[in-house]
Amino acid sequence: MNICDSDMISETLLSYGAARVSSLADADIAVLNTCSVRAQAEQKAFSFLGRAEDFKKEKNPRLKIAVIGCMAQRLGTKIKKRFNTVDLIVGAKDIDNAAQLIMRLEVGRRREEGRINNTAATSSSLLPPTSYLSNIVRYVTIMRGCDNYCSYCVVPFVRGKEISLPVEQIYNECKNMAENGAKEIMLLGQNVNSYQFGDTNFAALIKKVSSIDAVKRIRFMTNHPKDLNDDLINTMASEQKVCAHIHLPMQSASNSILKAMNRKYAYEHYLGLVEKLRSKIPDINITTDIIVGFPGETEEDFQASLKAVKDIRFGGLYVFRYSPRPQTKASEMKDNIPLEEKKRRHAIILEESNKISIEIAAQSVGTVQEVLTEKYENAVLEARTRSGRKVFVKGGKEHLGKNINVLIKEAKINSLFGDIINP
Ligand code: SAH
Ligand code: SF4
Repeated sequence: MNICDSDMISETLLSYGAARVSSLADADIAVLNTCSVRAQAEQKAFSFLGRAEDFKKEKNPRLKIAVIGCMAQRLGTKIKKRFNTVDLIVGAKDIDNAAQLIMRLEVGRRREEGRINNTAATSSSLLPPTSYLSNIVRYVTIMRGCDNYCSYCVVPFVRGKEISLPVEQIYNECKNMAENGAKEIMLLGQNVNSYQFGDTNFAALIKKVSSIDAVKRIRFMTNHPKDLNDDLINTMASEQKVCAHIHLPMQSASNSILKAMNRKYAYEHYLGLVEKLRSKIPDINITTDIIVGFPGETEEDFQASLKAVKDIRFGGLYVFRYSPRPQTKASEMKDNIPLEEKKRRHAIILEESNKISIEIAAQSVGTVQEVLTEKYENAVLEARTRSGRKVFVKGGKEHLGKNINVLIKEAKINSLFGDIINP
């Protein structure tokens, strides 16, 4: 979601005539988009601000620094106090206005310096690709905020209440992007399964986006096991454009921990969804998130999660060490698992999951996969299979943005390598 927000902001700035530069030394404005989900993300942002402050004082006093997003929402006043070099704070709830506010900084600076430039470009849709994403895959936010209040999670506090954006607006955005070269649309929300606008639920929204001719592939993120229903699974199975990948965060396989996390499902329900998805969409790649070291997580609870990783055999997973976040219910519980123990559990899950991921990836060696090419650099195309696996293929720029068939020759943990068939 942050990549999507950053992209949206940089596109607006580019459309006003700004240019992207690769170092702070060349920048007039630095925008730091922040995440509050884990304590580590905030620590990283603070250390970046420290470096940017030194840089501004010593090398480029003209630099304006804007801090935006969840951390700006949560800690705006503190940031301003600690870093007097920060010029602008825009919280996550106000993210839609961030680009305008950042532009005002620039206009203000030019006014200060007595040189207002009225020649800023105004073209808005045909923009150069940003460095984050290719023009071929575009992210579209379909909802903002979250109402789920998982007990460990800060998102509902910093991003506010769940709001589904209007169907027509989403449809038009997707259509516009596809007509400007996008082939794949990634629909985004904290829990897309609860999307509801008027009579349109998420499955119906997918069908609507799928009806746009120029859209060739649809992905979405992220899902909540309590809200993933048959309607969506059937739509995934029947709509050819919907990719065979689902990110379905499990968090834990211990029912007592799931309850304490306020996830509102039991492990058996999760397992049932996995079975249903695999029976209806045989080639589906299921990926997940797991938290280790949640308050009160016993060795037995941890072993349940480890067993689930072995039993379910996820195509990939993110494992996180629990960190208490302010305002959350879990932060009132005793964070009783020592860091060393969290690290141990984290390493065990990761090792097991890496072993499984490589085994699954290796199964595709020798198969032919349909991939969509997303990026091109030095005669190598970066592409993705329908199940969301990254593939590197030797080839020319003329293949960019195309669906091509690739014979997989080699598998590594996070990527496959292959050759184009019938180029
Ligand atoms: N809305 C999404 C994403 C939430 S944040 C969802 O429900 O899946 C992404 C992941 O960060 C979560 O799935 C969770 O695994 C992890 N996470 C969130 N809060 C955390 C915390 N306090 N400590 C450790 N991991 C956390
Ligand atoms: Fe956080 Fe839960 Fe909402 Fe995801 S669903 S953003 S984990 S509260």
